[in-house]
Order: sequence, then C-alpha cells, then structure tokens
Amino acid sequence: MARRILIIEDESHIVRTVRLYLEKAGFEVAWASDGTQGLAAFRRTRPALVLLDLNLPGDLDGLDVCRKLRAESSVPIIMLTARSEETDKLIGLELGADDYITKPFSPREVTARVRTVLRRAAQPQGAPEMLEVADIRLNPESRVVTVGGREVPLTRTEFDLLAALMQSPGRVFSRAQLLEHALRTPFYEGYERTVDQHIKNLRQKIEPNPRSPHYILTVRGVGYKITDA
Ligand code: CA
Repeated sequence: MARRILIIEDESHIVRTVRLYLEKAGFEVAWASDGTQGLAAFRRTRPALVLLDLNLPGDLDGLDVCRKLRAESSVPIIMLTARSEETDKLIGLELGADDYITKPFSPREVTARVRTVLRRAAQPQGAPEMLEVADIRLNPESRVVTVGGREVPLTRTEFDLLAALMQSPGRVFSRAQLLEHALRTPFYEGYERTVDQHIKNLRQKIEPNPRSPHYILTVRGVGYKITDA
C-alpha cells in the first residue's frame, strides 16, 4: 500500500511540484490549502506524514495546526518555512514538529527529508542502531564513540548530547530541546549556558580544531546542529 503524505500549503505551484516528486517516489498525496481543511483532511486520510506550511491563510496558521495535530497524534510533521520565519521555525520544533525545510527548496530535497523522517519514525523503540555522521561513529548500546577510528571517552552528558545531534544530522536543535531531550532536564531560564558549556567540552574532545568547529556548528540565535559535510 502506498504511504500517504498530506500537504497543507496554500501555494499551489509548490504543491504541484512537490506532489509530482512524491508520487514519482511512490507516495500517495493528499492536499489541503488551509489549516481548517488540513485538520479535516488529516482526520479523514490518516497520512503517514504531514508537510505543513507555516504561513497559511485563514484562522489557523501553521503553528496552530502543528499544536492541534500534536494534541491528537504523533504523526511525523515536516514544516515548510520561509527564511524570515526563523523564530516560528523554532517554536514549531518546540511544538513537536520533526523537521523543517526552508523555502525555496528543491522537490528532491523534500522527498529525501520525507524518507528520512519516515525511516526515523519507523524505528522500533528500544532497538538503538549505530549512528554515523562524517567519521564519527556512536554506538548507543556500548556507549562508545570513535572519531576517525579513534575512541573518544565522553562523559554521560556529552554522550547524550552528541547522540541527540547525531540522530538528526542537519537539524537545528534549540538549547531548550537539547536540555529536555538529551539531558532530560526541564528548561529553566539561564540553563542555556549549561548546554553551551557541554558543547564546548564536547568540541574539545571531538573537533580537530575546537576553535573552528567542523562537526558541531553553532546556528546563531537558534542553537546547534551536527553536519555531515
Ligand atoms: Ca503559505
């Protein structure tokens, strides 16, 4: 059975191209052009994944829709955002979106991200798999990390932070998300510094040149990501 993707987006030319690529990749595509219709279509079509535009016409914007979807489902959500919506993007991730793609994007990129997010969502809980980004390898079971084949001893916190980043290469994590997901600490004002310090320590251990990081990059005003490049 073809897996269904729901696109909630008002710009029909975007929908047309993305749809074409997704269908070519074997997905079935449903489309809604505003938030209210999007929620109705979600309930009706039960998609495997939702591509959600942030800037929607009508009563519900993308963030409202994201919040409502999360309240009733754990369906993977990829947000489609414009470059100027940096803050919204961050809020979206905190509301539980799985990933975001910045416009303008290539339809090929969308198809690739859809596949990645679906693969991640399909992973059975409790069956951790080996993570690999560039020449970093992380074994969640033995908790061993190697960089270029050399074992690097990390503290528990550093390991958990690195694992969180490596699970989604390219995804930007806010400090609050890293605190909650990796460190299992609720977010308090001022705790950002804690994350910064752990990242700094981690860089000292894994980066060839910690002053000019190659793996863990700072995304100004947002947080951190790990890169494959
Ligand atoms: Ca729009």
